[in-house]
Amino acid sequence: MSIKVKIVGDVVHLLVIKCCFKGGEYTLWNQRYEAMERGQLEQLQFLRLKQTLERVYQLVPHYRKSFQQAGVEPGDVRTLNDLSKLPFTVKNDLRDNYPYELFATHLSEIVRVHSSSGTTGIPTVVGYTRSDLEVWSELMARTLTAAGGNQDSVIHIAYGYGLFTGGLGVHYGAEKIGATVVPISGGQSKRQVRMMKDLGTTLLACTPSYALLLAETMEEMGIKPGELRLSSGVLGAEPWSEGMRKVLEERLPIKAYDIYGLSEVIGPGVSFECSAQDGLHLSEDHFIAEVIDPTTEEVLPDGSTGELAITTISKEALPVIRYRTRDITTLTREQCSCGRTIARMSKISGRTDDMLIIRGVNVFPSQIESILLEIAETEPHYLLVVDRHGSLDTLEVWVEVSEDMFSDKIRGLEELERFIFDEINNVLGISAKIRLVEPKTIERSQGKAQRVIDKRQM
Ligand SMILES: [Zn+2]
Repeated sequence: MSIKVKIVGDVVHLLVIKCCFKGGEYTLWNQRYEAMERGQLEQLQFLRLKQTLERVYQLVPHYRKSFQQAGVEPGDVRTLNDLSKLPFTVKNDLRDNYPYELFATHLSEIVRVHSSSGTTGIPTVVGYTRSDLEVWSELMARTLTAAGGNQDSVIHIAYGYGLFTGGLGVHYGAEKIGATVVPISGGQSKRQVRMMKDLGTTLLACTPSYALLLAETMEEMGIKPGELRLSSGVLGAEPWSEGMRKVLEERLPIKAYDIYGLSEVIGPGVSFECSAQDGLHLSEDHFIAEVIDPTTEEVLPDGSTGELAITTISKEALPVIRYRTRDITTLTREQCSCGRTIARMSKISGRTDDMLIIRGVNVFPSQIESILLEIAETEPHYLLVVDRHGSLDTLEVWVEVSEDMFSDKIRGLEELERFIFDEINNVLGISAKIRLVEPKTIERSQGKAQRVIDKRQM
């Protein structure tokens, strides 16, 4: 265990920053909370939940009204299980209360706002008090530590900076652990690769699709992975498959860690993988997670797949109660081999918003990604085009194939098309038209990837 003295203003704090389990294999940023005995953790959650409920009931008209409509008061919550008596919060509640009506503090206490892009309607605005920013930095410090980050790391942050929470969220956590931060933001991929090489980057933080573009750019520039010091990637902001993990781990090469978060809850840092890569640890001292059936809204037992709902229990500016994330996952509260006792959620398998219903079959883009990435001749770039002819839905799967395939005989391409068609049909039960395209045909993403064009909604 190492002790670090950190000076904040004129107050000296002693922070225990590292605790090692199983012979130093795993490092935890905050042993006390990440590996708290579960009974104690649940007591802490209950206490913080009660305080949060009292605050929102007193201070946020929207919550007072929605609780009253549901016939509940904060006093009715006597155990953690009673949380299920409370109404859900959805994204539209943030839009309807745009910009500040859901805030539980005066604007004078807000030190930062972030906002969604609002491309699909009214944007949502989220706010942070100074204490909220400290919590956020703490959560990102846990995230980066679990991915092998420490004061010797050089952390390259290629998430967008600005109103999007990705860039600044990772930034403050990286500074908190004392790493050397390169706040490069997105874009200009060749410059990114050069900087990573010259500055000796050890940890890359960006979306998985951008990490793939950087890998490709490196290959184009003739830079061998061994010329970089990269060892980990902290990748999030979009769902990605185990197949994509394999591709990134081979091509960069890095150990690719999944991270999860959303601005309505806090931004990145809600949950993170440790090196066991066996689910994402959810910081339960700050959040209560539930998995619900998205249709009946019933709470499902651990191990069941459903939509994640999150209640914040330490946020001051914008507490959210049972926020429906629309992300599909499962939960377990079994202790991880890393020693952390906080709950784990499985890698997000899709978003209820992204789910395509094609001729009555539910399809997530990540399912198709998993199939395509298992096929050696295809490249990890694809696009799904959904349309409707008459009353019949159609799915076209565009996928890039390797250069060699195109120089090969047509027959090889036809066989590959047939093979992909059969694989998708066998796994998902739908027949898709397969379009094999040349390398670099599909547009590369600088941030979140666009995998689907649904012409039915246009
Ligand atoms: Zn773990």
